[in-house]
Amino acid sequence: MKKIAILGSTGSIGTQALDLCARHPDRWKVTALTARGSREKLFEQVRRFRPELAGLTEGIRPEEVPEDLRFCRWVSGREALRAAAAESDADQVLVSIVGIAGLQSVMDALSAGRQVLLANKEALVTGGHLVTDLARKKGKPLLPVDSEHSAIFQCLQAAGPNRPVRILLTASGGPFRTWEKDRIRTATREQALRHPNWSMGAKITVDSASMFNKGLEIMEARWLFDLPEDRITVVVHPESIVHSAVSFEDGAVLAQLGVPDMRVPIGYAMAYPERVTTGVPEPDLFSLGRLTFEPPDEDKFPALRLAREALRAGGAACTVLNGANEEAVALFLRGEIPFGGIYDRVERALDRLAGLPANGLEEIFDADRRAREDVRR
Ligand code: NAD
Ligand code: MG
Repeated sequence: MKKIAILGSTGSIGTQALDLCARHPDRWKVTALTARGSREKLFEQVRRFRPELAGLTEGIRPEEVPEDLRFCRWVSGREALRAAAAESDADQVLVSIVGIAGLQSVMDALSAGRQVLLANKEALVTGGHLVTDLARKKGKPLLPVDSEHSAIFQCLQAAGPNRPVRILLTASGGPFRTWEKDRIRTATREQALRHPNWSMGAKITVDSASMFNKGLEIMEARWLFDLPEDRITVVVHPESIVHSAVSFEDGAVLAQLGVPDMRVPIGYAMAYPERVTTGVPEPDLFSLGRLTFEPPDEDKFPALRLAREALRAGGAACTVLNGANEEAVALFLRGEIPFGGIYDRVERALDRLAGLPANGLEEIFDADRRAREDVRR
């Protein structure tokens, strides 16, 4: 029986992780659940899974907790994430909140000796060197939940001591793959939120349309698998069946295939090194018939170029890219800037701030703040 804490339990990843807990009550005991603001949904989850700790980061007063849910410890505000990550009696902490808040949570969970299951890519994008150092010191390697990184991780399990030569990071290409550049720049909120293959939270869905998601995933792969960015090739694969691949010096390529359903990578991280039923069927290769692959168009989608430049610049450049993008996506979702404005704002923030240092958490949070201010101005 594994004990699991889920940060961001009401989100897309969090609810699917709880589906797996419900499917396998003999395998997981839920010790902590947190959400930002969706309290009714969290109440339902607490009623069902009976954790010892529950937290709402937007805050909750003791008298607002329904009487039948007072059996557990309720934590309100910022402290909720830290308590869930470090104080509940968990073996595993699934970090599935959105944004740079994940960095502190990952550090807290690792410091407390927990195994981190990482959905939140921003923790590696902004503090990859700190997180991987601490994970190594604690002897608790991160288990990736992001589908591409789970695929790479699964392929590497079959590689024994052999190091990969290259990572082939697949990308669906998003809803604008076949659009002309000018049309992409004026895309609407509704168009950006219509992902062809995956159902996900709003922020990451917009990032998939802009391909900033793939840029962030290059950074994530760089830290998880310790390969430089020029050994990470993005392959556009619109069917989203091959979730990524790795190549070796003998010319062999190993890939992981599956239907696009996050319960597979979530379940793999949760049950690792075992595999459990997830409710997801295997892909029907006969009905798929064929799979296609093409190179990304970096002129239409400048996100990949910007991400590689930020990785090469080092320091806080990736944090600046991430913070500026998060802020620009929020402006876009509120209808305040056009889709193309996301690229312009990120590029401008990088021009101004890419040289900032990132030696510790304080410098990283400072770079993040300055990038957001830059975009808002
Ligand atoms: P979501 O918006 O659906 O859910 C986020 C959850 O975290 C919710 O429970 C919300 O209440 C909570 N939350 C959000 N911001 C918070 C904050 N600042 N502080 C505390 N709690 C907060 O998001 P999601 O799609 O589940 O994505 C979660 C993370 O996983 C992201 O980093 C995303 O990039 C990554 N990811 C998601 C998918 C996917 O399929 N959804 C795939 C790969 C990676
Ligand atoms: Mg992904």
